[in-house]
Amino acid sequence: MVARVVPVDPFDLVVFGATGDLARRKLIPALYHRLHDGQMPEGARIIAAARRDLDDEGYRDIASRALDEFVEAAALDEKTRDRFLRSIGYVQVDVESDDGWDALAKALPPADGRPRVFYLSVAPRHFGIIAEKVHRAGLSDSDSRIVIEKPLGHDLASAQELNDCFSGHFEERQIYRIDHYLGKETVQNLMALRFANALFEPLWNARHVDHVQITVAEKVGVEGRGAYYDEMGAMRDMAQNHLLQLLCLIAMEPPARLEPDEVRDEKLKVLRALAPLTDPESVVRGQYARTNGSPSYTEDVGHPGSRTESFVALKAEVANWRWSGVPFYLRTGKRLRTRVSEIAVVFKEAPHSIFPPASGRAGNNVLAIRLQPDEGITLGMTIKEPGPGGMRLTSAELDMTFADTLGATKLRMPDAYERLVMDVVRGDQTLFMRGDEVEAAWAWIDPIIALWDERGDRPISYDQGSSGPEDALMLMHRDGRRWREIAV
Ligand code: NAD
Repeated sequence: MVARVVPVDPFDLVVFGATGDLARRKLIPALYHRLHDGQMPEGARIIAAARRDLDDEGYRDIASRALDEFVEAAALDEKTRDRFLRSIGYVQVDVESDDGWDALAKALPPADGRPRVFYLSVAPRHFGIIAEKVHRAGLSDSDSRIVIEKPLGHDLASAQELNDCFSGHFEERQIYRIDHYLGKETVQNLMALRFANALFEPLWNARHVDHVQITVAEKVGVEGRGAYYDEMGAMRDMAQNHLLQLLCLIAMEPPARLEPDEVRDEKLKVLRALAPLTDPESVVRGQYARTNGSPSYTEDVGHPGSRTESFVALKAEVANWRWSGVPFYLRTGKRLRTRVSEIAVVFKEAPHSIFPPASGRAGNNVLAIRLQPDEGITLGMTIKEPGPGGMRLTSAELDMTFADTLGATKLRMPDAYERLVMDVVRGDQTLFMRGDEVEAAWAWIDPIIALWDERGDRPISYDQGSSGPEDALMLMHRDGRRWREIAV
């Protein structure tokens, strides 16, 4: 099967912070792939803007090296590389001063109905000033778009401030808040699975679902982002956005249409239905300890007394008719056994067993949606063990791993940013968070963090390479359930 590519209209994309990590690692490779696959049209322009004193050629060198580093060799060909690099220009802009804005205005071709995208790949402290200066310099019109990514605030008040600052210069339909998890192929496939198949919907409720587990486990530590991470912690950095967004996609009602606001209205209802987490036993915070000579969290961030969590596990409840009584267990952490992100919908056991005890036990059916690595969906079933040895039950997985299902030629899984950047150009906000969603997520998270601050206790230590603190296991054991293995 060949992926269908519909080219977008020519656009102008201004990347503020174009020399930074996100731009080099994700944006430049994503745009290259879209050109390579015929989606980014001739005439599309990328204007790289950053503080460094570079000319067009100087930045093209940086971009070319980013391609060598972050694009797989099989996708690199010299003709496309050349075309791609020629579509990029560089403007030196210091966003904190007035320097460079005139040059930026000159570098932008007249909009003439071409969508203009301002991608803010800079530290959040620069978001407000860029929005204001873009507006004041007359660079934006009613068709322009502005793109930002987490952290979208630090708590509800700062998120509201950020929303207010953007809404002073842009309408909500022009603001694209990225949660790159939503750009993942499998996450979109979850919507297809739920809403394009009649099979699951009758089972998708408290009568048939025992519980849901969402795990985002990282093997890496704070990786040079210690100061930033120590301010945030796992709850703000991962749970407030990625985990809650995934929860929303599982728990939301079917929208009437696949339209941005229809989908986002449904997600917002889920966030607003989250029961306040008042039971301290429902949340476990952890911090990785020095393990086999590998430095501890506090050593990594250089803050010996830090009470910031590098792991959090919690039990959430979506208090509505569909989900009443179904726990949603969420966990995320750093320096865990391996890197894996997964959603598991665990169905209830069959109500009555007709099989003799010697047959073994029928397990729960589990729909596992794997986001990384190896994106794919499996459905765990109980079947008869093959052979003449009598009726013995065993478990097997129906594997919907796309690379296999979609044909012999292995389909390259596009990176989330490829999809998301093209959606911005197309003006499709379905996979982007609306301002009120971000605020609703903070409104749920804030009291939990306030409770930690009030109690002043330290996170529980866990060994690096483990599944997190014992107490996180207990969180489920107490309910007679267990986490799925953190394993590839
Ligand atoms: P970075 O520090 O690597 O890059 C920052 C960029 O901003 C650089 O190009 C720098 O030149 C530019 N810059 C700094 N001050 C400037 C000024 N006064 N005027 C003009 N340009 C200036 O940061 P990053 O890791 O690329 O992150 C960028 C944004 O994306 C941040 O908001 C970050 O939280 C977010 N983000 C990054 C990642 C990632 O994988 N790196 C993931 C999620 C979110």
